[in-house]
Amino acid sequence: MHPVLLTVGLAASALLPAAYVHAVKGGPRHVWLRLRLVMVMSVSALLLITASIGVVDKMSLALAAPALAGVYLVLNYHFERRSVNRLLYGLKGRVHSVTLLSSPVPAAFTVAMTGRVYATTELYRRLEPEEAAAIVAHEIGHLEALHPIPPPLFVTVIAIMASILAAGIIDLLGQGLASLVLVAVVLLMAGIAWVVFNWAWEHLADLYALDAAGAWSISALYRITGARPEEPRLLSVYLDAVKCLRPRGGRGVTVLVNPHPRPGYRLYLLEKIAWQGEGRGSAL
Ligand SMILES: [Zn+2]
Repeated sequence: MHPVLLTVGLAASALLPAAYVHAVKGGPRHVWLRLRLVMVMSVSALLLITASIGVVDKMSLALAAPALAGVYLVLNYHFERRSVNRLLYGLKGRVHSVTLLSSPVPAAFTVAMTGRVYATTELYRRLEPEEAAAIVAHEIGHLEALHPIPPPLFVTVIAIMASILAAGIIDLLGQGLASLVLVAVVLLMAGIAWVVFNWAWEHLADLYALDAAGAWSISALYRITGARPEEPRLLSVYLDAVKCLRPRGGRGVTVLVNPHPRPGYRLYLLEKIAWQGEGRGSAL
């Protein structure tokens, strides 16, 4: 264990919700840059924590590549079997392919591991075509927000980091009560870093959708969430970050993998950028 690295990593994680509030509440200029900075800070905090207590287990590293390849193939097979069509969207000068899935649940999602975007037939039934397209643009925005890192490479790096951190935590578990407290703190702070990373990622996807699909992206979000714009407050944001960590069943599994910020915060930022007109296009 490296105590200095660990202290810096945990302190950086503790600051992340505040950095998120700063990024969302700041002026429209450079909003994209601020959100990306929050993402970089989150991954850096995770890297520091991993570097300080992680254990490189040769066996798990050797198994990582085949395991990831397996997940890739299973995901591809699972979704391609339910695919009923392929839609092409021209967004911001590029053509993106979206796989249409037959499903009674209105949904759209991105599988960063495969770099693919999916939307369900029910989504198109429930929403105006322009709103459904705006939702799809949001999903494509998730992939674009990682640029220039290819999404599958990003997922691979995060998965390897998580396995090194997990091996370190398992190692600590057998070392008495004090180390149990340390494990709890590490899990909490690493969790918060992951949550805040995903929040910033979500807002960047929203901004991409706003740029590509205009006000439809806002009306789709209003319609789907039923929320109203809400200015983020520091204490609520810290509480939300912790709440996002609690395990939930059913569809919550997806939420745990990609925790979302409050819909009100997303609408707050979208409305601000849409009305003040800056932060669009130039940065993306
Ligand atoms: Zn999203």
